[in-house]
Amino acid sequence: MAEILDGKQIAAQLKEEIKTDVKKWHKKGVHPCLGVLLVGDDAASIAYAKFLERVASSADVRFVLKQLQTDTSEDEVISVLDQLNQNKDVHGILLLLPLPKHIDKQRVMDSILPSKDVDGVHPVNRGYILGGGECIYPATPLSCLEILKRSGIDIAGKHAVVVGRGETVGKPLMYMAVAENATVTVCHSRTVDLPRHVGQADVLFTAVGKPGLITKDMVKPGVVVVDAGITEIDGKICGDVKFDEVKESASAITPVPGGVGSITTAMMLKNLLKGISMQEALVEVKVN
Ligand code: NAP
Repeated sequence: MAEILDGKQIAAQLKEEIKTDVKKWHKKGVHPCLGVLLVGDDAASIAYAKFLERVASSADVRFVLKQLQTDTSEDEVISVLDQLNQNKDVHGILLLLPLPKHIDKQRVMDSILPSKDVDGVHPVNRGYILGGGECIYPATPLSCLEILKRSGIDIAGKHAVVVGRGETVGKPLMYMAVAENATVTVCHSRTVDLPRHVGQADVLFTAVGKPGLITKDMVKPGVVVVDAGITEIDGKICGDVKFDEVKESASAITPVPGGVGSITTAMMLKNLLKGISMQEALVEVKVN
């Protein structure tokens, strides 16, 4: 029977660390603040913004929400992001998705200052994932790796299989896992014989959004499973993995809910604090 990798417990540890770091910034006269931009009235985004506000406030992080009408032009959205970029009291920016259809998501995301980009979506941060420079990593793949690190599971030298090559999770995760010295196979919707690849995994990451895609007969006994998939069915949140049966074969597994998704907001706040250090370093360079 697998060890259940408890995201909620790790999130609680992270929150305590964040509160300690926030206190240190307070002593230096910096009051960490997350700015969130919501364009339109997508119900899930509104609910997520409220959740973010609660998590931020419980970690003593200030929170600013800017909400724009659905018909706001792309240039106006960029102009509001630029105000947040220029605002020295706002240290991190999260643009909530989806955006209304008339807005070019990439152009808007490109306008966020890389050091304020708490979800690592800016091309500069994306580029540094490849190049290995100091950057802000996207929160969900970061969460997948953090759960393993905090559970004492080292992926160096292991065969990691990443199922899903989406921009949010799978694609950055494949490079981040290589940087952690795993040997990585990437699978997607065009992969022929998914079970053969999945069956070779020492560590299996899934980021697809198809409940029940991964079954017990596909995995190698002793595999470590990190399920980032989130799909809502009849009000219930499901991962990509058939948890009840795969946990019988795996050595460790993240539940859904209560796994990866439980720590992504905390990782975003960690990114916010990392961003403040990067912003302070930039100010020092300018002064000198
Ligand atoms: P996405 O962009 O839609 O990517 C999904 C990926 O799954 C694609 O690469 C797709 O392949 C692949 N795929 C689809 N069907 C497949 C199949 N039958 N076999 C193998 N691969 C298949 O999604 P995303 O934004 O990366 O998100 C992935 C999942 O993570 C979703 O469930 C999302 O809700 C979840 N998520 C969780 C968090 C969190 O906090 N835990 C955060 C963000 C996202 P192709 O590239 O060939 O189309």
